[in-house]
Amino acid sequence: MGSQEVSSTVDWQGKHVTVAGLGVSGIPAARALHERGALVTVVNDGDDERARAQAAELEALGITVRLGDGATLPPSTELVVTAPGWQPDKPLFLAAAEADVPVWGDVELAWRLRGTNGRKAAPWLAVTGTNGKTTTVRMLASILQAAGLRTAAVGNIGVSLLDAVLGETEYDVLAVELSSYQLHWAPSPRAHSAAVLNLAPDHLDWHGSMEAYAADKGRVYEGNTVACVYNVADPATEDLVREADVEEGCRAIGFTLGAPGPSQLGVVDGILVDRAFVANRQKQAQELAEVTDVNPPAPHNIANALAAAALARAFGVEPAAVRDGLRAFRPDAHRIEHVADIDEVRYVDDSKATNTHATEASLAAYDSIVWIAGGLAKGATFDELVAGAAKRLRGVVLIGADRALIREALTRHAPEVPVVDLDRTDTGAMSEAVARAAALARPGDTVLLAPACASMDMYTNYNKRGEAFADAVRARADESA
Ligand code: ADP
Repeated sequence: MGSQEVSSTVDWQGKHVTVAGLGVSGIPAARALHERGALVTVVNDGDDERARAQAAELEALGITVRLGDGATLPPSTELVVTAPGWQPDKPLFLAAAEADVPVWGDVELAWRLRGTNGRKAAPWLAVTGTNGKTTTVRMLASILQAAGLRTAAVGNIGVSLLDAVLGETEYDVLAVELSSYQLHWAPSPRAHSAAVLNLAPDHLDWHGSMEAYAADKGRVYEGNTVACVYNVADPATEDLVREADVEEGCRAIGFTLGAPGPSQLGVVDGILVDRAFVANRQKQAQELAEVTDVNPPAPHNIANALAAAALARAFGVEPAAVRDGLRAFRPDAHRIEHVADIDEVRYVDDSKATNTHATEASLAAYDSIVWIAGGLAKGATFDELVAGAAKRLRGVVLIGADRALIREALTRHAPEVPVVDLDRTDTGAMSEAVARAAALARPGDTVLLAPACASMDMYTNYNKRGEAFADAVRARADESA
């Protein structure tokens, strides 16, 4: 933010703040700022019934709300606080830049308000990356809990950072998931330690370019005090560490699915080992857990576990707590979720695999797969994904609006693999997809829903898509029982 920097202890009294967007982050932000004496105006593009009801509640407190115009900057604005998803090239932000008015996201605001409610400001262990954030942050929280620390998984993940920072509970440390959008609007946060799990093209329409996307992700390392954790298999993440301006003594720590070098965590003979946070990293490695302690022990998930372990170890957590925390961890729904086994075929729901990078990881986790894929491609191409997985595909069932793109890639790179192209989008479509997949599968195979696409052409969201799959699978299981 450079010259636009506002000092970290802000005197909110009488300060004109414009909050952009009524929503999960906008409403608590408006309330928190109002309580601290700021003169808050909320601007919102939409003007529907829900927005009006929310506006009425805020107006009753004395907050000004302007519905139906999120573009114009109120003239007296000294600071804009925005919902993270608002596109940076919106007229409101251009007007703010013109007027030299700083723009903060919800994460920036949480960072600035931490410690202002009489409770201690807990340090942050932060996680970003294209895929695996939620899983890693939950694993991390589980490890920290196993170590007896008061903690929570917060951020882009259910509990907002602002709620965690301003709530009643006192924390020793927070496991914070940060999206690239949130990082874009958060120049100041300084994590104790942070990890970038991986970097693949995603949300480029929002950020403008891969460089801008990577630069926003890289912000997570700025000012780290103990460790910048990167993925050895993804050199772009290590480049971001190199470019970051960190506190003196902060270390670069790699994680790898192979044997770790000094200052790395990795895997040796089925054991997760730490060669970073040990007394003599040239000669010594510390056993943390077994690969089978990771749930599920798919390669990308072991990488997530190593990243979580690295952050926990950076915070001083003992090896036994890493193991106990990983054992206690249960993945969230629709993330490589084992639904049922029917006739010796395993059915797995990875509806959360909404881009090709996630699906690539998912397909790498099984040897012989009937793959259910398709939906909204969001501009993605599928050649690399299909070419890489071709050998493991028993068959493919395609659903959704952009299925032709995947079919074309299959014709090019896996012409011998049988493909069922389902031309229906009604509520029975997933049942048929599952039935057709079952017909292609042989004992020992995995039927895997990992669509590599967004769900909104057929479902409200990826949860609903995953539920439709799981329902269809369970119905078959009941029939065959
Ligand atoms: P995020 O919060 O970043 O969206 P999640 O933990 O919710 O990540 O996982 C999203 C999807 O990404 C999952 O469906 C899973 O298949 C895939 N995934 C999880 N971890 C990784 C990883 N380390 N690398 C690649 N894909 C991953």
